[in-house]
Amino acid sequence: MFDLGKEWTSFECPKCKYEIDIQLIDLNDNEQTYCNNCKVKIQFDDKNASVETSIKKINNALRNLGK
Ligand SMILES: [Zn+2]
Repeated sequence: MFDLGKEWTSFECPKCKYEIDIQLIDLNDNEQTYCNNCKVKIQFDDKNASVETSIKKINNALRNLGK
């Protein structure tokens, strides 16, 4: 089994739409991050929901890889 916490995911900056890469473990450990492009602070308001969504996306990606 691989550790999902070490998996990378990405999301769009709400301000500039820049794609931000982040490790799932950082989503768990930090309450905020910064956009690499416009430096806006991004707060993970609903961390659990965000991580859950990310994991779902990864599972979908893995399924697609298996095809
Ligand atoms: Zn940005």
